[in-house]
Amino acid sequence: MAKVELKNISKVYEGNVRAVDNANIVVEDKEFVVFVGPSGCGKSTTLRMVAGLEDITEGELYIDGDLMNDVPPKDRNIAMVFQNYALYPHMSVYENMAFGLRIKKIPKADIDRRVKDAARILDIEKFLDRKPKALSGGQRQRVAVGRAIVRNPKVFLFDEPLSNLDAKLRVQMRAELSDLHLRLNATMIYVTHDQVEAMTMANKIVVMKDGKVQQIGSPLYLYNHPVNKFVAGFIGSPPMNFLTVKVIEESGSVILDEGSFRIKADSSHVEGLKKYAGKEVFFGIRPEDMAYTQSGGENSFSVKITVVEPLGADIHLWLTTATQPLVARTEPHYDFKVGDSASFIPKMDKARYFDKETELAIFSGPDV
Ligand code: ADP
Repeated sequence: MAKVELKNISKVYEGNVRAVDNANIVVEDKEFVVFVGPSGCGKSTTLRMVAGLEDITEGELYIDGDLMNDVPPKDRNIAMVFQNYALYPHMSVYENMAFGLRIKKIPKADIDRRVKDAARILDIEKFLDRKPKALSGGQRQRVAVGRAIVRNPKVFLFDEPLSNLDAKLRVQMRAELSDLHLRLNATMIYVTHDQVEAMTMANKIVVMKDGKVQQIGSPLYLYNHPVNKFVAGFIGSPPMNFLTVKVIEESGSVILDEGSFRIKADSSHVEGLKKYAGKEVFFGIRPEDMAYTQSGGENSFSVKITVVEPLGADIHLWLTTATQPLVARTEPHYDFKVGDSASFIPKMDKARYFDKETELAIFSGPDV
């Protein structure tokens, strides 16, 4: 068992910098939880408080129900993998992995078994005699993970472990770490600024901004039910579009007036939008929910193409209404040209709406 609980945890650095503000997070046993958010949002500080590398200013940290606030890092039964690997350059791969165990005075035969087991799991057996400088970035990363595995910790902590790797290797290591999580059956907490890593690896995502937890949920739950404009814009790529529109109530329906076009809200959203009649809201629509149409029709609107990005499997189109930018993702079999006009019909049942002042979702999305 390895359940991690953060209760009302805050970190205040010197000069009254509130890096983490009242975080409440539960990481269940065997869960893979990803803390994600832009640089400076407090995710590393949160992880480092779990590791014991930072003091907790306020609140309580529990691992398996035991209060950890004053327990030194080495007694927390956790292992951390860092972005820069932190390998000892003068030691072989074997020695790098064995070192922490030697310090703990674990018997030699036991160390040998654990190092070889980890090397087998990570497919680095043939590199055990090499020094780190004779390894590729991906191999070094595996050694860093191996050093964590041999300790047989209750909880694995990862601090942006893939950010030094090239794009292709990152995709591969992502899959390897997900696979490792299943094979080790361990509790893992993983920090990244990359929402794709969060979406692809996490059982549960914790989205942070300005030191505050914004929302916690499964990847698809966050995608479909963002609580505010920040989460809606952060999860998903290309990000959700936000157009400022005026809400107009008209004979039982709700019309959204963008200035250069008017579209009708989905009937399921009318009730929620009515109280905004006469006011502006953010109309949120994902790029994949903008359907290209050659024949116009009800609820279609015309925009100008500013950039065409053919990606092979699909095309990203950067567009602009008379005043506001947006992005659409379409099938690849159309010949779009910069400067042309194109018409789209937004999938209105997929639209999200956000309060202009609070930026909170006006109502939640459909269940998934
Ligand atoms: P992230 O990992 O999300 O990029 P961090 O947790 O590293 O963010 O930092 C959160 C905030 O705390 C940032 O504003 C950062 O400048 C500040 N911070 C981090 N470490 C210290 C420190 N030792 N002293 C003062 N402020 C710090």
